[in-house]
Amino acid sequence: MKPQLILLGAPGTGKGTQAKKIVEKLGYTHISTGDLLRSEISKNSELGMKVKGIMDRGDLVNDQVVLELLNANCDIANSAYIFDGFPRNIEQAELLETNVLKGIKSKAIYFNMDLEVLVERISNRRVAPKSGEIYNLLSKPPKNEGKCDISGEDLVHRKDDNAETVRNRLEVFRNTIAPILDYYESKGVLVSIDASRSANEVYDLVEQAVNS
Ligand code: AMP
Repeated sequence: MKPQLILLGAPGTGKGTQAKKIVEKLGYTHISTGDLLRSEISKNSELGMKVKGIMDRGDLVNDQVVLELLNANCDIANSAYIFDGFPRNIEQAELLETNVLKGIKSKAIYFNMDLEVLVERISNRRVAPKSGEIYNLLSKPPKNEGKCDISGEDLVHRKDDNAETVRNRLEVFRNTIAPILDYYESKGVLVSIDASRSANEVYDLVEQAVNS
């Protein structure tokens, strides 16, 4: 049985791009708590309305709320998942273990990168919600401005991908990551990879980590 994968790393370190490759090549199911929350906002659900302001500021949504959403959207006994965006703090790491994984084999992959370069990188990110493609206006621009190369759909600039919110999201990350890394290190399931390398090189490192 393939290990459940937990992707750790600051916003903009390439977790979403790599998750897409892992799904295509290794048959995993991608579950992103950020995507689940954004989908609640676009449905205008009660939960969506509750979390919108928090997400616009780049702060974290309540742990139990995110845990319930995660549990409602995964069937851990029957699929191998990539957890992207969860856990965001040590409490969530413990909740993931006790309420979701419950002892199932897992591996945590840390996308290690210098945080200083990320503000520019994330501010230039554009996403295609339907195809899941992720572009960067500087390093990976679409062929036709504002349109996805694959689906032709309009690209979206996430509301929380503006410089001010990004700085707050990075600050939240800086304040919470160390205990999460210690937690997975002490369980012996942490693999740290250099996320500043090219997407293909990073993928090779991810695949090695999955198979190690
Ligand atoms: P992401 O798409 O992972 O960058 O997440 C976007 C935003 O969704 C974050 O800035 C938080 O406001 C919220 N969010 C996503 N995942 C979580 C989580 N596990 N716990 C709390 N808030 C989350």
